[in-house]
Parts: sequence; C-alpha cells; structure tokens
Amino acid sequence: MNAKRKINRIGVLTSGGDAPGMNAAIRAVVRTAIYNEVEVVGILRGYSGLLNKQFMGMQSHSVSKIISQGGTILKSSRCPEFKNKNVRAIAMENMREAGIDALVVIGGDGSFRGANLLCKEFGFPVVGIPGTIDNDIYGTDFTIGFDTAINTAVSAVDKLRDTADSHNIIFFVEVMGRDAGFIALNTAIASGAEATLLPEVHTDIDKLCSFMERDRRKNKTSGIIIVAEGEEEGGAMEVAAKVKTKLPGYEIRVTTLGHIQRGGAPSCNDRVLASLLGYEAVNALLKGRTNVMVGQMQNQVVYTPFEEACTRHNEINKTWCEVSRILSL
Ligand code: ADP
Repeated sequence: MNAKRKINRIGVLTSGGDAPGMNAAIRAVVRTAIYNEVEVVGILRGYSGLLNKQFMGMQSHSVSKIISQGGTILKSSRCPEFKNKNVRAIAMENMREAGIDALVVIGGDGSFRGANLLCKEFGFPVVGIPGTIDNDIYGTDFTIGFDTAINTAVSAVDKLRDTADSHNIIFFVEVMGRDAGFIALNTAIASGAEATLLPEVHTDIDKLCSFMERDRRKNKTSGIIIVAEGEEEGGAMEVAAKVKTKLPGYEIRVTTLGHIQRGGAPSCNDRVLASLLGYEAVNALLKGRTNVMVGQMQNQVVYTPFEEACTRHNEINKTWCEVSRILSL
C-alpha cells in the first residue's frame, strides 16, 4: 500500500478476454468516481489504448443502459508489447500528459501482471477488478463473467441433451477452460452430465470407456460428457476420437461451445458482483490503496496484492467430481 495522494482523475480499462459484466463494472467505476467528484477517463482497447492515447472522458450518461450488455464498451485487446518496460514507460507518460492519477484495470491474471509492474516500477496507483469467465483468480470466490458463462453453457447442454436422447447419441461437449475446470465442473453438475474431463484431473480413456459401457448396460442410450478445453488429451475432438476407436458401436458427436460462452447479457449475479467491485475499487484508490485486486470472499470485500492474484490460482473442489459422477448414475 502506498501513501495516500490526491486523486482527481481515474482511468479505467478492460484487458484480456472479454467477460459479461465488464460493462457493469465500468458503470460502477464511473458513477462511484463521479459521486466522489473525481473525473473518469475511459481507455480503449486495454493497454494498447494507453500506448495510442485512446482516451475518452466519461460522464454519468456515458454508461447509461450498459449494465445489461455483454462485452465491454471500452473494448479489449491483447497487447504483448506491454511486457517491455520501455513501452510501459510510454504508457505512464501518456497517462501523466492526460492528467490520469490512478487506474482501474478490469481483466484477468495477465492484465494484473501488467498492472503490478506499473505499480512497482513507477509507483503508480492501480487497483484491479477480476473480470474473466474462467473463475481461476485467487482472491475472490467468483470472477465477473463466470456465472453468466456457466448459465450459457448449461442452457446449451440442455438443448444438446434433447438431441442426444432422441437419437441415442453420446455428446462430447467442449467448454472453455484452458487451465481451470470451473466452467466444466459446474456445467457438468448442473446439466447432469455422465462424465467430466478437467485440466486438473488425469484423463483416463479406459476408465471413461468403462463408465460408458456400464451406463449402456443400465440401458442409458445417450449421454453428455463435458470436456474442458485444457484437459490433458487436448480437448473434446481428441478424446472422442480415442473413445470411438475403443467403442466403435457408439454414436458419438462432438460440440464445441466456443465463444458463445463469453458473450450475452450478464446474469444478475455478475451484474451485482461487478457493481460492488467497481464501487469498492474506486473507494480503495481514494483511500490510498494500490497494487491490489479487489475481490469478494464469503460476502466480504478482500484486497489481494497483484503479485498473489497473478501467481496463485483458485483450486476446484475435487469432491465435486465425485458428486457429479454419483448423481449421474
Ligand atoms: P487476461 O488478463 O484475461 O489473463 P492476457 O493474459 O491476454 O489476459 O493478458 C492481457 C494483457 O495483459 C496482455 O495482452 C498484456 O498487455 C498484459 N500482460 C500480460 N502479461 C504481462 C506481463 N507479464 N507483463 C506485462 N503485461 C502483461
């Protein structure tokens, strides 16, 4: 935490993968700042906007009616050059020129790595808000976008279930989650999936086949297998191909849900979380906090140093895998 200094103008940006609820967080940042008589500058396209001076003044009406919109009105981008210190110095100079005294970064762990460096190298006040559908950020029970993403995935799987039942098909459904299985596990439990493959758990194709054969002996003629994109065989296509060679008589189809999981109107939970964290982020900066991500754990506001938020990860509860399996017997 740095010494408190007067903040007259706050910058806000969204970075990394977009997540539903980012707009609600932007709205909360803008309105909380205005309430505290602090000006807000929106920075377009994440860290790229800091380099290209893509700044826009934001008023209360700039964020009207965005609480219900997915995506991010500030747009997002990947900006690999931000890993270079000289490039970050340009960003700092541009912020100084625009009179920006502090920054709110809405994004995932990559974005917080960049934010951490701005704080450490230049002593610049930055507070982060966890916005990612993956839910794998340490220091918050839920990230903004996760709830919407799992609801999108569950409603898609419910639809696939109708076709699976009608045609005796086993669907391998790939959901997002390169490093973490939160989306897969929650989707599996909520859709009553027959099996789940996660990055955190070794994929055993023989065991999966024996589950499928046991289900068939119990006259289950269709099924849903949820596969996180980062499971160790390389995703749903690869797993399905291997299973097909071992169980050639099964009707197997693969569906990859892909980017539909990132879009759409944010759920009530995501809007509420984003609103609260946006409010807390501005208040944290005004109280002199910096170099932290603001999160919520057990209904309490929690501040986690960027260093920790971008190196540690939330763990899935492995008991839930067992629960999922037992409940689909
Ligand atoms: P997310 O924030 O969703 O994890 P990324 O990992 O793509 O998404 O990171 C978003 C942006 O954060 C990157 O495009 C880059 O501008 C910045 N960033 C990521 N890692 C670093 C790093 N090690 N140093 C500086 N900036 C980084």
